Amino acid sequence: THFGYKEVPTAEKARHVADVFHSVAGKYDLMNDLMSLGIHRFWKLFTVSNSGVRRGAKVLDIAGGTGDLTRKFAKMVGETGHVVLADINGSMLNVGRDRLTDDGIVANIDYVQANAEALPFPDNSFDCITIAFGLRNVTDKDKALASMFRVLKPGGQLMVLEFSKPADWLGGIYDTYSFKVLPQLGKLFTGDAESYRYLAESIRMHPDQETLKQMMIDVGFERCDYHNMSAGIVALHRGYKF
Ligand code: SAM
Repeated sequence: THFGYKEVPTAEKARHVADVFHSVAGKYDLMNDLMSLGIHRFWKLFTVSNSGVRRGAKVLDIAGGTGDLTRKFAKMVGETGHVVLADINGSMLNVGRDRLTDDGIVANIDYVQANAEALPFPDNSFDCITIAFGLRNVTDKDKALASMFRVLKPGGQLMVLEFSKPADWLGGIYDTYSFKVLPQLGKLFTGDAESYRYLAESIRMHPDQETLKQMMIDVGFERCDYHNMSAGIVALHRGYKF
């Protein structure tokens, strides 16, 4: 790419992802609001409102981090339902658990430290699985998608909310924002420009809308489709297991 970013080897990538999220965990929520001008809240709200999740449902929020989706699902599934907030990173999981507990959301949530590539749940466990801004951090995305397919119940759906390829007209502004402004914001508010440079790079390397859709089809998902938001800065992919 014209920013000279090279794909890093897999073990190195996994370690790097761990470092990034350990280092940003405490300020993660603030930075989300700042960097997206609060718009990530709408992307997440749209995702949850279109999930069709009902009372009593079992939901897995993988790469759930500080729990933005989990907290919404916890209300929707009610006391008879169940939400699992899973994340590979203990620091993110701790921040998420503290935040939800502080807000009195406790009844029907489990916190599980897990890798999306090898989910520690039985086959056919969940009615709905979400992964929001998580898949691009996963080293082996095909393996992760296959793992999600396995633990999804027949009739259940996967929703992938992730940065994607923005419309052409937005490209120039978007590149400047992500590679110049974003690291500066990161430096200013967390003293850590590197983590935010990684963020921009990981977004650039992530498969575009059609590629991700095909990856979902390849592991067995059916009726796969996506919905662009904010001119394709973000896309919500959906697929079902039958
Ligand atoms: N879903 C939350 C949200 O939308 O605010 C958190 C998103 S955060 C940008 C990405 C999360 O993915 C981090 O908490 C990170 O620890 C987690 N993650 C990275 N690689 C993972 C993996 N292989 N399995 C599970 N979680 C992973």
